[in-house]
Amino acid sequence: MKPIVAIVGRPNVGKSTLFNRMAGERISIVEDTPGVTRDRIYAEAEWLGKYFTIIDTGGIETKTDELIPQKMREQAELAMDTADVILFVVDGRLGMTPQDREIAIMLMKTKKPVLLVANKIDNNNIPDYFYDFYELGLGEPIPVSASLALGTGDLLDEIFKNFPEDSDTEMDEDVIKVAIVGKPNAGKSSILNKILGEERVIVSPIAGTTRDAIDTYIEMDGKKYLFIDTAGIRKKSKVSDNIEKYSVIRSYTAVERADVVLIVVDSEEGITEQDSKVAGIAHDAGKASIVIMNKWDLLEKDNSTVKAYTKTVREELPFMLYAPILFVSALTNQRLNKIQENIDFVFEESSKRVSTGVLNDVIGEAVLLNQPPSDKGKRLKIYYGTQVGVKPPTFALFVNEKELFHFSYQRYIENKLRENFGFEGTPIKIYIREKG
Ligand code: GDP
Ligand code: GDP
Repeated sequence: MKPIVAIVGRPNVGKSTLFNRMAGERISIVEDTPGVTRDRIYAEAEWLGKYFTIIDTGGIETKTDELIPQKMREQAELAMDTADVILFVVDGRLGMTPQDREIAIMLMKTKKPVLLVANKIDNNNIPDYFYDFYELGLGEPIPVSASLALGTGDLLDEIFKNFPEDSDTEMDEDVIKVAIVGKPNAGKSSILNKILGEERVIVSPIAGTTRDAIDTYIEMDGKKYLFIDTAGIRKKSKVSDNIEKYSVIRSYTAVERADVVLIVVDSEEGITEQDSKVAGIAHDAGKASIVIMNKWDLLEKDNSTVKAYTKTVREELPFMLYAPILFVSALTNQRLNKIQENIDFVFEESSKRVSTGVLNDVIGEAVLLNQPPSDKGKRLKIYYGTQVGVKPPTFALFVNEKELFHFSYQRYIENKLRENFGFEGTPIKIYIREKG
């Protein structure tokens, strides 16, 4: 589980400059997804070989007629809900403003570490009014210059000091973490409540999961699950106009933490752009996924309805052909019992390891059946492959020349791996390495 850092502060203090500086080259995983990610709101960042996720809450655009206080409140809430460490950025050159004070008051409510960052300190001359920032009650301001990259190393050290200990081992290893994502009103909470209700187990938030209050821990049939419900968070806060953007960001952080993602879709509405976006996030993050077509009770059906809907889902989410599709109703309970079964199944599939020997038999056979591509008299050779990871299953293939390994042939190899090993419900990753 990668720690999350959120940047808040009033407009123009340099949040996005700092964000870009910290994210470096690693900005945004799904850059070509329309909407949210174009604003580059989140990115993977690295410092001294350690990774974390960084969110620029200021990157969320709001309608121009919206009041700034409201916008800042939403951003602060988002940060307090999702982040492990909050960076509160102020303009160190300008000095303190009443808006800074308002944000500080909001941030006081959180138990999470807040670092006060005084930006635009472009040289060693620290202005007198710099010390006014102590008044905010958030400790010593950390001087940085985001544009000149001054002080950012010290800031990163400070951030790392404040990450929760054992960010990775906070949870039992044998807990399956399940994120429930989807559009507002798709039925996420109803599904979760039904799953929890039927099992009549004591449900308690896990101690230590400070990230948000709506993580729900449950034991069913002797197995442990942690449900991460993005719907619950939304209901708690007062987000309005930006509801969709916020919910995509929250989905992103929930997906990051999960082993299995339930993509809940309102069947009546069909797969929307936001659904594809969230599915894309799950796919890119390498998570096992299940598409849950909810509100199945509302449709008029005949014996070809399932087939027709399956076809549509496959067309709308062509990158996720591996995901099981369940047609359920949280209202009538139809097929809800299949959900747990499928969670277990895709989790197993995404954790599966195949031995190097068997893997190379399959690759050898695939190569015999369908000759690798060649270019200018040179033919691709796959020397051997090995599985280097799970969740998702990740392979390294050693070849003579990377460029010869065209996408279509990668697809072919991927399909052969799936034919032989299953890997249902999970993306697989293939790294291609040249070997002289
Ligand atoms: P945001 O609205 O908080 O995201 O602020 P931006 O990152 O867009 O920055 C606002 C303005 O401040 C831009 O003109 C930046 O070039 C400028 N800026 C950002 N960081 C620094 C800095 O460290 N020093 C100086 N002098 N200007 C900066
Ligand atoms: P969330 O925002 O995704 O958590 O959605 P909710 O669980 O709050 O459900 C939104 C609305 O859809 C509520 O009025 C539910 O009663 C209704 N709903 C949820 N699931 C179903 C279902 O399977 N069938 C029908 N007919 N209504 C549903």
